[in-house]
Amino acid sequence: MTVPTSAAAGLDATAIRADFPVLAERVHERPLVYLDNAATSQKPRAVIDALQTYYETYNANIHRGLHALSERATAEYEDARSRVARFINAAHSHEVIFTRGTTEAINLVARGWGDESVGEGDEILLTEMEHHSNLVPWQMLAKRRGASLRYIPMDIEGRIDLEAYARMFGPRTRLVAVTHMSNVLGTITPAAELIQIAHQHDVPVLLDAAQSIPHLPVDVQALDADFVAFSGHKMLGPTGIGVLYGREALLDAMEPLFGGGSMIRVVELHQSTWTVLPYKLEGGTPNIAGAIGLGAAVDYLQTVGMPAVTSHEHELTEYALSLLSDLDGVRLFGPRDATDRGGVISFYVGDVHPHDVGTLLDADGIAVRAGHHCAQPLMRKLGVAATARASLYLYNTAAEVDCLADGIARAKAFFE
Ligand code: PLP
Repeated sequence: MTVPTSAAAGLDATAIRADFPVLAERVHERPLVYLDNAATSQKPRAVIDALQTYYETYNANIHRGLHALSERATAEYEDARSRVARFINAAHSHEVIFTRGTTEAINLVARGWGDESVGEGDEILLTEMEHHSNLVPWQMLAKRRGASLRYIPMDIEGRIDLEAYARMFGPRTRLVAVTHMSNVLGTITPAAELIQIAHQHDVPVLLDAAQSIPHLPVDVQALDADFVAFSGHKMLGPTGIGVLYGREALLDAMEPLFGGGSMIRVVELHQSTWTVLPYKLEGGTPNIAGAIGLGAAVDYLQTVGMPAVTSHEHELTEYALSLLSDLDGVRLFGPRDATDRGGVISFYVGDVHPHDVGTLLDADGIAVRAGHHCAQPLMRKLGVAATARASLYLYNTAAEVDCLADGIARAKAFFE
């Protein structure tokens, strides 16, 4: 296996690293090797500066003030919405609803759309590899409405059986809610096919794109997507900001989750009417700084180029899979072939508990995650209580993958 240089991917990881202040940190007197990107990504200087500039020079509430600061804050907030809309190729910027993150976006659909559209005896199709954020809200909806959840057959590496999926549709199928990339297995699901089949039955699809949009070019119109949920903090943006993309007609028909300021047209003593999209679904003062920071993150990713991000991570994933599969006693989860997977690599080292592996790697300055990754049903399917997980992003290098492989080998030797 040749060591990837990322040059072929058209991405200069060394120059990119210089944009991320935290990557220069030392941890336990070692250079930080940050491989916990599926949990949250690091932030480039451009995002940190955008937050600081907002707070230092034009902090004000939006949509309400007639003064200059408020007008500027409103313009920047709405500009961020337009940039996010362009990033995912939404037809209209009002199809981008700012939320706190993926979790809130999915709950918004489960309440605002689900309570209106799902009834007794109806069915929602999911997979067993969903993050709890794309599982628990549907369980709650099913309980409220007397509906049931059905699971699309998939293999142990997260490959969906499309023929079996196509056969699951019936008159009671109301929604498909599926991850676009597993946060445990790294598997990329065939979103376009899943959506196309669902649409043959007039069933909308919600894509949990928390792990895909940060790493792959995603075009919601090309996918013909209905709802897409993602988080700013996993794509170089701040925490506390995320997005629900929804097709205009679906969002229009939705009930708001939060009643309060900004989302009303007329309020009377006993009833109110709602204003237009996107404000109808953004009650209360939103995370103004967060949205502006997300706009800066999207700019950064677009300047690097999403195809370059994807191919850089693809090269590194291939390299990591080959190094780790050469290590004795290391069990890898997810597809071996890097073609249909992203850079999320879950592994188990001999009989060593993943938490111990994580702690030993941390002592070497290597940040990975260990646990059930908010995917307990998938852990049960895999027959483990937890895994260790390394996850890559645009600033990671082959040298860091070498560090990971050496660290795992040391951790294994330590427990032998
Ligand atoms: N869905 C997937 C696939 C995830 O990986 C995550 C976070 O790890 C989420 C949903 C939840 O995202 P958030 O906690 O930002 O709402």
